[in-house]
Amino acid sequence: MKTVTLPKAPRVGLVSLGCPKALVDSERIMTKLRSDGYDMSPDYAGADVVLVNTCGFLDSAKAESLEAIGEAIAENGRVVVTGCMGKEADLIRERFPAVLAVTGPQQYEEVVAAVHDAAPPSASPFTDLVPEAGLKLTPRHYSYLKISEGCNHRCAFCIIPHLRGDLQSRRPDAILREAEKLVAAGTKELLVISQDTSAYGLDLKHASWSWKGGEVRAHMTDLVRELGKLGAWVRLHYVYPYPHVDKVIPLMAEGLLLPYLDIPFQHASPKVLKAMKRPANEAKVLQRLREWREIVPDIAVRSSFVVGFPGETDEDFDYLLKWLEEAQLDRVGAFKFEPVEGAEATAMPDQVPGEVKQERYERVMALSAQISADKLAAKVGKTLDVLIDAVDPEIGGATGRSKADAPEIDGEVHLRDAGSLRPGDLTSVKIEDSDEHDLFGVPL
Ligand code: SF4
Repeated sequence: MKTVTLPKAPRVGLVSLGCPKALVDSERIMTKLRSDGYDMSPDYAGADVVLVNTCGFLDSAKAESLEAIGEAIAENGRVVVTGCMGKEADLIRERFPAVLAVTGPQQYEEVVAAVHDAAPPSASPFTDLVPEAGLKLTPRHYSYLKISEGCNHRCAFCIIPHLRGDLQSRRPDAILREAEKLVAAGTKELLVISQDTSAYGLDLKHASWSWKGGEVRAHMTDLVRELGKLGAWVRLHYVYPYPHVDKVIPLMAEGLLLPYLDIPFQHASPKVLKAMKRPANEAKVLQRLREWREIVPDIAVRSSFVVGFPGETDEDFDYLLKWLEEAQLDRVGAFKFEPVEGAEATAMPDQVPGEVKQERYERVMALSAQISADKLAAKVGKTLDVLIDAVDPEIGGATGRSKADAPEIDGEVHLRDAGSLRPGDLTSVKIEDSDEHDLFGVPL
C-alpha cells in the first residue's frame, strides 16, 4: 500500500494583547490562517513565526506591547506585529529592526499576507478543516460578537477614532449568521462588543436586510431582539446612554437580553463630562437608572470612570462620589487619567498631580467596593442561574457567573461542590455567602 506523507503545517504563535475587541481580531486572523493550513503553536520554540497583536490605547499598553514584541524577538526571532500599535510602525521598526512586518488594526489581509511571506503555507489537501464557527480564543461556551468598528465621537482622552477610524457597522444579517453558527458550535453566551454599541447602524442609516423570511434593521434594538431568539445569553457592552437605550430595557424584561448593561459613564460632573467631550452627556441618568430598575428590578449596571482628568477640582470629584452613592452601580472600574500621545486632553491645562489622582482613585474604589459588597450580600439566600466557566477536579469545586457577571471584568460565583457539572453548563445555585466581588453557593 502506498503511504502518503503529509507536509508539515507551518506553525504560528500568537500573543494577543489588549481589550476583547482585539481578541476578536486575533480570532479572525487565526481562523483565516487555519483555513490556509497553519497550525497554532502554544510556545515560542515551536513556532515558525510569532504574531503579536498589540494594544496602543494608553501609554502603559504601548509599553506592554513593546515589551511583548521584544520578548517574541528574543525567544523566536521571526515576528509579525499587528493591531492598534501598528499605526506606529516607525517606532516599532526603530526599536526592533528585526521585525518582519508591521500592519495596523483591521488590516486582516495584510497581516495574513505577512504571515504567508514569513512562513509559506504548505499546499496540502489534507490540512485541517476550520471549525464551522471559526477559531475561538475564548472558551467554547462564550463568544465575543463584534458588531462594528471605529467610532464617530472624539472624546478628549481617546485615540481610538484615530487608530480605528469612524463608525463602520457590520450588516445585521452577517452578525446574526455569525451568532447562529457560534450558538450551533456550543456558545451559551454572546457578548456584544463595539466602541459604541448604541450607535450601531447609524452609518448604514439603519437600513433593513432580509432575515429569516422577514427583515432586520441595522439598529441596536432590532439586532438584539433577533440575537435574543437564538437561545443563548446575550450581554451588551459599551452602551452609551442615548435615549433609545430605554427601548432595550423591555427586552430584558421579556428574557431576550440579559439584565445587564455596561455603560462607560467615565464621570458624573457635567463640567468634566463636557471637557471630556463625552457622547450622551445628559443630566437625567440617575432618573433613568431608577426607571430601568422599576422595569427590570435585578438589572446589573457596570461602568468605568476616569479620575484626575485635567481640570477636575475637589468639587467635581465630590460630585462624582455623591453621584456614585446615589447611582448604586453594581460594578465599577476606575482609571487614573493617563496622558496619551495624540489625545486632546494630553495638552490640556490644569493637569492633576499624580498623588491627587491616586488618592481619588482609592476613594472611588473603596466606595465602589462597599456598594458592591452590600449589593452582593443582598443576594445571599437567593437562587441564581449560573453559567459554569471552570471545574477544578482536584478540589471538586467550580466557578461560574450569574447573569450579573461578564467574564474577565466582573465577579464570579464559586461552588464548593461541582458534582457532575462541566464548563458551559447552566445551573441553579443557592447563594450562601458573599464578599466584595464574588458570591459563594451550592448547586441545587
Ligand atoms: S466613544 Fe469616546 S472613548 Fe469611546 S471609542 Fe469613541 S472616542 Fe473613544
